[in-house]
Amino acid sequence: MSLTLPLVARGKVREVYDAGDDRLLLVASDRISAYDHVLPTPIPDKGRVLTQLSVWWFDQLAPVLSSFGASHHLVSASDVPAEVAGRAMLVRRLEMLPVECVARGYLSGSGTVEYQRTGSIRDVPLPAGLVEGSRLPEPVFTPSTKAEQGEHDEAIDFAAVVAAVGSERAEQLRELTLALYRRGAEVALDAGIVLADTKVEFGLADSALVLGDELLTPDSSRFWPATLWSPGGVQPSYDKQYVRDWLTSSGWDRVSPPPELPADVVAATRERYVTAYERLTGTPFR
Ligand code: ATP
Ligand code: MG
Repeated sequence: MSLTLPLVARGKVREVYDAGDDRLLLVASDRISAYDHVLPTPIPDKGRVLTQLSVWWFDQLAPVLSSFGASHHLVSASDVPAEVAGRAMLVRRLEMLPVECVARGYLSGSGTVEYQRTGSIRDVPLPAGLVEGSRLPEPVFTPSTKAEQGEHDEAIDFAAVVAAVGSERAEQLRELTLALYRRGAEVALDAGIVLADTKVEFGLADSALVLGDELLTPDSSRFWPATLWSPGGVQPSYDKQYVRDWLTSSGWDRVSPPPELPADVVAATRERYVTAYERLTGTPFR
């Protein structure tokens, strides 16, 4: 790709360009990351699915944001260079807050691991007897660090969020993240999908709180087919879990360079991303 805009940052999945005028161009690639590694095999159309699903969710959740006096960063998904059309968003440039805001309505993944060890997720106590896939009595806010490249995100206490952004802002992040989760989960369930958990990122523009990054995508969330939900093990999903499971079964040690994905795994992964988009939005992906 030969965009002429200056490159500001290259993440695991996205490129960030300076679009001038306090705007950025966020371009989602077809790269897929798992266990903090970028895999060598791209997933066709993944960048377009992530972008178009985020755009759809920004619209869906705008009322939740405004009820908190906040907004989202999307300026336009159509006013973008032709060579990245469909997988790029023109957004307001934000000063990102150094916290990943995670909301969980179900126990899964790293949450289960920590719960099994301590009975809680950091300072958030949970009832006894939960298993992988259990629905939590109430959605919980379990923030994590925004790790530097190559580092692993780590769960943090609410006190660490307060230390990073102040207590008023921290409360606002917690309540707004939970409100976005609740509304997102409700919309998803209407489409037959359990939104098990999600991660959102906020930033500031002129000291106002603005939702940035991607929103409720299969990269930032766990999506489970509602009819197949059955606590007690890893759930069937429309997210990266399928790739994580394949990587585990491949014998990869999570340290050395990850293996190429076989063609059938690529196709099945693409299918999951596209299905998430189509079921949630109710429109065919093209
Ligand atoms: P991964 O998501 O796989 O962990 P990453 O977070 O390193 O990778 P990407 O998500 O690929 O990187 O890149 C997007 C980057 O842009 C993130 O660092 C994100 O915090 C940042 N970002 C998102 N929206 C904005 C915005 N409106 N203003 C400034 N930075 C933003
Ligand atoms: Mg990211």
